[in-house]
Amino acid sequence: MMMMFDPIYMIIILVTAVLSGVASMMVKSAFNKGKNVILRSGLTGGEVARKVLESANIYDVEIHQQGGFLTDYYNPTNKTLVLSADVYNGRSASAAGVAAHEAGHAIQHSHGYVPMYIRSAIVPVANIGSMLGPYLVIFGIMLGAAEGAGLGYSLAVIGVLMFGAATFFSIITVPVEFDASSRAKKELYSLRIIEGDEELGAVSSVLRAAGLTYVAAAIGAILNLLYWAYRAGLFGRRRD
Ligand SMILES: [Zn+2]
Repeated sequence: MMMMFDPIYMIIILVTAVLSGVASMMVKSAFNKGKNVILRSGLTGGEVARKVLESANIYDVEIHQQGGFLTDYYNPTNKTLVLSADVYNGRSASAAGVAAHEAGHAIQHSHGYVPMYIRSAIVPVANIGSMLGPYLVIFGIMLGAAEGAGLGYSLAVIGVLMFGAATFFSIITVPVEFDASSRAKKELYSLRIIEGDEELGAVSSVLRAAGLTYVAAAIGAILNLLYWAYRAGLFGRRRD
């Protein structure tokens, strides 16, 4: 309960929300602008994804479409690339950029790109850690974490470490995403799916904005981790 009234925590929540809000507005705006740049190659996002995969000798990935806005993802467990309807059917720079980016994840998977494997491996710990970590810290504080030793302190430290796993997940997502985008751009250009400065510029700005959403999430996670470490008494001294 006391966390609710901690002004520092409220500022962190606010900063995190503003960062992610601004980033997702930038993605929306870049995507909608890029939708007006129709590719001279005339390919749909679904066709783009297939071409990029085939150029990397990947023939065992299924491509599906689904509803929603920018709900695109690659699922390594069943080798499925799921594209939103706008991307799957679109013939624009935005559709090609997102489709090639998701194909980039499939290429990372088939080429054994290490950060992607680390990221997948810590998903379960990260999920539990982001939910349970803060409660352990609060519980530890109630049991006397401020003393800097004893059961309360140990619980608080475990809570911080668990939240740290979730933070690490957010951080390692950033290079995975930027790598998928740079693979995407390279393939789009060398396969002549996109041509000229206008098409390349539109693809770049969509992928750059998408990358920023992950940077915003990582910054938010780091701020939260610092907060919980501070509450746990790992640095600074707090007298309640
Ligand atoms: Zn991605």
